[in-house]
Amino acid sequence: MVLPVVAIVGRPNVGKSTIFNRIAGERISIVEDTPGVTRDRIYSHGEWLGHEFSMIDTGGIEINDQPFVKQITAQAEIAIDEADVIVFMVNGKEGITNADDNVARILYRTNKPVVLAVNKVDNFEARADIYDFYSLGFGDPYPISGAHGLGLGDMLDEVIKNFSEKTDNADDDSIKFSLIGRPNVGKSSLVNAILGEKRVIVSDVAGTTRDAINTKFIQDGQEYTMVDTAGLRKRGKVYENTERYSVMRAMRSIDNSDVALIVINAEEGIREQDKRIAGYAHEGGKGVIIVVNKWDTLKKTSSTQREFEAGIRTQFQYLSYAPILFVSALTKQRLTKLPGMIKQVNENHSKRISSSNLNDVIMDAIAMTPTPSIKGRKLRIYYATQIRTAPPTIVVFVNDEELMHFSYERYLENQIRNHFDFSGTPIKIITRKRK
Ligand code: GDP
Ligand code: GDP
Repeated sequence: MVLPVVAIVGRPNVGKSTIFNRIAGERISIVEDTPGVTRDRIYSHGEWLGHEFSMIDTGGIEINDQPFVKQITAQAEIAIDEADVIVFMVNGKEGITNADDNVARILYRTNKPVVLAVNKVDNFEARADIYDFYSLGFGDPYPISGAHGLGLGDMLDEVIKNFSEKTDNADDDSIKFSLIGRPNVGKSSLVNAILGEKRVIVSDVAGTTRDAINTKFIQDGQEYTMVDTAGLRKRGKVYENTERYSVMRAMRSIDNSDVALIVINAEEGIREQDKRIAGYAHEGGKGVIIVVNKWDTLKKTSSTQREFEAGIRTQFQYLSYAPILFVSALTKQRLTKLPGMIKQVNENHSKRISSSNLNDVIMDAIAMTPTPSIKGRKLRIYYATQIRTAPPTIVVFVNDEELMHFSYERYLENQIRNHFDFSGTPIKIITRKRK
């Protein structure tokens, strides 16, 4: 499912990130727990009245060494390019400024719906006092207060009203995957090498935004869709090379995929940005394959691969389930294995285990390693059942969920993995008290 995208745009200090964080709420996540990331996150999910969407705070995408006007121009262009609905934010305390006019002028160029939000209307008694903002030409201004959380409901109602009914072709049976990685790791080369002589069925404009260009191909009777929102097709915009923009695009690609291929350059090893993006795929419950490209460039001994693999396992501990493939887009080494691996991971990701098989494994596990006790109270596990796929989600019913220790949960997960092939997919285990 492709989520509609809402982008917030406006000059600095009008309260974009305040509103963004309010709508995004608290999402506990490895990615965002990283110091310095929570503060300046720019991409997240939001929900209002059962409508889910992705959200971009364009103010967080700064382009170094560019003058102010260039910055906000680029941010408005990003909003136009990426979003289905744009929230144009101004400051009710200060009125319309030249910078607001600048943003408005760029937004006039788009046919996309623009919702005008007047923030810092803290005194809601005076909320009718925003007539001036009609002159910006975006219809009714919506008064809000990020500080007090006022008016957000009405504004979001208007945002949601503008989501189009248009669904993309994501509901077909093809396996959706994306190639994610820093610039120059070889994503485009891999795309070309994978597609090779294959017949590309369509190269269409799909998704809810025109830039989400997906490419479909068939291998061994299986249809695949390569999700290309990661900005592989560059359009020569100034912001395309900024790290924050590419991280945001990567997150969007992951959202739209079943399986994310995290591409690492063998010459350079793992970088912080790789970890953030891989963490995002893990949190999102996606299938993950780690692809080490440019394997041809290393002088190898008999232990090179083992050492490289050990390094990856240490750096991506939470991705212990992800298979690693060492490839070369240049020599095409092992590339023919990739589609089959994607297919296998996708199958594991949507695998369903019967309750009887699952409980056999759980009961054997308990017999081998008894459940822990805390202060004389012993954890009792009654029953387990898989409630969801993609990712596989298992509920374990117990006497008291406080007694389930992280390490025991990990043990159960490992036992489950030993009995069923869940390679490439995270498994969610939810411990619940039996009523
Ligand atoms: P951004 O640069 O547009 O992302 O703006 P920020 O979200 O960083 O907010 C800029 C400043 O405005 C911060 O000091 C916020 O605390 C403050 N602010 C945000 N929303 C409101 C509001 O509704 N009322 C008031 N009085 N201040 C606000
Ligand atoms: P992207 O920015 O991730 O899309 O990376 P590109 O596909 O544009 O590749 C960046 C550079 O790495 C280009 O010069 C490629 O020719 C080179 N490259 C890509 N894959 C390989 C590989 O497997 N081996 C070698 N030696 N070079 C590669």
